[in-house]
Amino acid sequence: MEALNNIPIDFDTERILKMMRARSGAERFRKIVDELIEIAKPVARPKAIYGMCFIDSRDSDTVTIQGVKFTSHVMRINTEKIERVFPFIVTCGAELEKVSIPGDDALRVFCWDAVKTYAVYVASRYLSDYLKRRYALGEMSSMSPGSLSSWPIQQQKELFSIFGDVEKLIGVRLTEDFLMYPIKSVSGIYFSTDVKFESCQLCPRERCTGRRAPYDPELVKKYIPNG
Ligand code: SF4
Repeated sequence: MEALNNIPIDFDTERILKMMRARSGAERFRKIVDELIEIAKPVARPKAIYGMCFIDSRDSDTVTIQGVKFTSHVMRINTEKIERVFPFIVTCGAELEKVSIPGDDALRVFCWDAVKTYAVYVASRYLSDYLKRRYALGEMSSMSPGSLSSWPIQQQKELFSIFGDVEKLIGVRLTEDFLMYPIKSVSGIYFSTDVKFESCQLCPRERCTGRRAPYDPELVKKYIPNG
């Protein structure tokens, strides 16, 4: 297990505007984002923690990773040809989450949310590149508890148990509802794949601004029998 507490972050206004789906010419957005970046820069400390863990055993719907049993048919299929996975948690950092931005108009709140989303995006990219370099990995995919009914959000508890005191290590805690604080945090497992997998391929939700891949009914048949 390794905690990465010094992830560099260089705020990119254009990227943030793109994530907000704001037209790059929207000067009003740009002005607010630039102003909020100046607030975020001195405090932002995105972080990550990961483990390199071996799979102990599997049955039809479970995978036991380093003594922790996960129930997920999709995970079972995704990991059937590999022996190790990389559980992870990445976060924008509690330092950024605690900042109260001046003013309370909805547009500023929306832009601040995007700045924090950018910070967790930077942490995710950093971790993924770091793992590829350190473990000489090729194509990698990830899945997260709660992104599919096949891996319910309650299994955050099992995932966090792999790391011990996550709050002490990188400042992320689980709420009673199995959500993470800071909210702008992402957890899951990375695994090697020949073909890129995205949970979105199995998710029929029509209006989702976070969609990363089109819904694929044929893939659903493979992963979720009778689904
Ligand atoms: S489409 Fe949206 S809700 Fe569905 S898995 Fe992807 S990001 Fe999550």
